[in-house]
Amino acid sequence: MKYRYVSDSHIHTDCSRDASDPAMMMCESAVRLGLYSLTVTDHCECNVYSEEGYDKSTLQSYFEAKKAAAVFGGRLHVFAGVELGQPMQNRQAAEKILDACGFDFVLASVHNIKNKEDFYSLNYSCEDVDRLLERYFDEILETIDWGRFDSLAHLTYPWRYIVGEHHIAIPAERWKGRIEEVLKALIKREKALEINTSGFRQSLGVSIPDLPILERYRELGGKLITIGSDAHRWADVGAGIEQGMNVLQKAGFSHYMVYESHQPNALPIG
Ligand SMILES: [Zn+2]
Ligand SMILES: [Zn+2]
Repeated sequence: MKYRYVSDSHIHTDCSRDASDPAMMMCESAVRLGLYSLTVTDHCECNVYSEEGYDKSTLQSYFEAKKAAAVFGGRLHVFAGVELGQPMQNRQAAEKILDACGFDFVLASVHNIKNKEDFYSLNYSCEDVDRLLERYFDEILETIDWGRFDSLAHLTYPWRYIVGEHHIAIPAERWKGRIEEVLKALIKREKALEINTSGFRQSLGVSIPDLPILERYRELGGKLITIGSDAHRWADVGAGIEQGMNVLQKAGFSHYMVYESHQPNALPIG
């Protein structure tokens, strides 16, 4: 590997319904690759928290991560995290699960806006994309204001589907101001920005967010970056992380963060 400290702070295990491999296998894969650390961040979709059993699966994920940390101790740092989806659509559920588990790391995500399906499954020929994106940024800003998370996952997630899958162009200029609002809010609240490397292995072809946004975050004074593959199977553990680190270097970052007990530990990119 090109870098001394390679960590993956966004992976899903079989405690997420769209992923298939147990935490132990994900960790084994990380050890084989020589990763420094792995943070388990299974889905907890707050808007369908009890209806879809996220109360149980998130608790299960937390215990599996703790078990894996004990088994892999000395070979790999394993942290227990969660990807909290749409916390603003059920704040009570979000706070309940955070109070129940002593997570090291909390990612906040917006996969769908209120009363809409996931951006993944929307029919864009019948949607007003501008209106959807306005609401997407509103909900992210509301989440940052709430503040019970460590890092904002995959900012510009809708681009993965709108641009990557449906080939609908989104003019960068149009959303520059709203993106800047998000970056400034993160910096003000001392929250991290994630670089999600799943875009490299999907049709989007770039990290989420991409280089210009990461550069802007740094220019505005942002220092807290986390990095994750968003692997949903053992074969994707660590995927694109070094490529993501190249992008971070280009954007002018010398370190990225790995969180333990919600505290950022800086690791060098070099
Ligand atoms: Zn996500
Ligand atoms: Zn994820």
